[in-house]
Amino acid sequence: MAIRIDEEACMGCESCVELCPDVFEMDADGEKAVVKNPNSTDECVQEAIDSCPAEAISR
Ligand code: SF4
Repeated sequence: MAIRIDEEACMGCESCVELCPDVFEMDADGEKAVVKNPNSTDECVQEAIDSCPAEAISR
């Protein structure tokens, strides 16, 4: 399953980017996170899912 962010829900806290910088990055405006590696199996992805205050990350 590909990792996805609900961009409507994302509040741009950057938590996922801090936890998992190889998978998530902020968009050009720095307002929303985007997935740059949707097929990552890195353990930090689950941490990011669990930490997202908007529950915006899924896979
Ligand atoms: S942790 Fe959630 S709300 Fe925060 S930037 Fe990432 S996807 Fe957006």
